[in-house]
Amino acid sequence: MNYQNNHSESVAIIGAGLSGLSCATHLQTLGYQVELFEKSRGPSGRMSTRHGDGWAADHGAQYFTARDPRFVQELGSWISQNVAAVWSPDIKVYEEHHWRESHSQEKRYVGTPDMSSPGKYLAKNLSVQFNQTINAIQKENGKWLLHSKESGQLSQLFDVLILALPAPQVYALSREIYKDVEEVCKQANMKGCWTVMARFQERPQVSFEAAFINNELISWISRNNSKTGRYGLESWTIHASPEWSERFIELEKDKATALILECAKKLGLDCQNAEISTHRWRFASGSSPEIPGFYHDPETKFGLCGDWLHGGRVEGAWLSGYKLAMEIEGTK
Ligand SMILES: Cc1cc2nc3c(=O)[nH]c(=O)nc-3n(C[C@H](O)[C@H](O)[C@H](O)COP(=O)(O)OP(=O)(O)OC[C@H]3O[C@@H](n4cnc5c(N)ncnc54)[C@H](O)[C@@H]3O)c2cc1C
Repeated sequence: MNYQNNHSESVAIIGAGLSGLSCATHLQTLGYQVELFEKSRGPSGRMSTRHGDGWAADHGAQYFTARDPRFVQELGSWISQNVAAVWSPDIKVYEEHHWRESHSQEKRYVGTPDMSSPGKYLAKNLSVQFNQTINAIQKENGKWLLHSKESGQLSQLFDVLILALPAPQVYALSREIYKDVEEVCKQANMKGCWTVMARFQERPQVSFEAAFINNELISWISRNNSKTGRYGLESWTIHASPEWSERFIELEKDKATALILECAKKLGLDCQNAEISTHRWRFASGSSPEIPGFYHDPETKFGLCGDWLHGGRVEGAWLSGYKLAMEIEGTK
């Protein structure tokens, strides 16, 4: 069953990450009245950049790839608007105590001037209420009613509700209403990520601009200043592996940072003289093995989109939002 082609229907989307922004953009184009609610003060979610005094570092998604023709087309418009560009760093791989060149031929892209730029570009044409943490949802007389931590019960009622959130946050919000959501969410098995950002006065003497690290506490290192449009101090991002991060997600920040920096030093990136910031992502990566694409209950006009329903990663997030919008409109 699909919705009627009733273009006065109102839609609330919780989460202004790429999946929510993609879904909102397509539904709005189809004529729906769309309102996004976002707990942070800006859009883009995990495609984000930390800004400090004279420095910036992408601390979530590092780059993205584009394979599906629909996403390739979207990327084309981002590139023409200067909010994305190709990134071709010198990449090395560390495994079994040895370094080697990366053999990957993958074309990689980044947001420009930072990773949040594509999301900001999409959000420009949408109505987004920032600093609104939705903490309860309920259905009343056929309409969706929202409550936020900051404003209490919101006055506007909606015909359609979409959660564009990581799986554990979907579960927390909707478990009282949708019993089967638990099963969908559990399969995603999302893991955290400890991220360290290091700023140097001078470029460190390291033989790579990005590195995949195998079987160590760290899984990724990259030089932010090697990406198009970056400015300021020489900044590097280090990600601990999903397995290590998840295991030690409750560690004190200082302890996690010290262990990550010790491993970075062993790998040749000595951060002793660097300024350091650390971020803990509670839900960074993971996706359900079956790739359902989205979740949709046409009876109650409730939907889910997000990277975790579409293989994880940036492209999956965008496609998930797009496909849910098409499903809602009934033009699969
Ligand atoms: C450390 C890290 C490294 C990564 N590396 C890569 C990579 O190299 N390549 C790649 O393709 N992908 C990478 N990813 C994954 C990529 O960032 C995601 O796939 C994509 O950004 C997910 O988009 P989304 O819209 O599904 O979710 P999100 O971006 O998580 O969006 C959800 C939004 O909902 C908001 N929100 C949450 N709860 C509430 C609430 N109660 N009320 C209101 N708003 C709420 C959040 O603030 C957020 O903005 C990485 C992610 C992380 C964290």
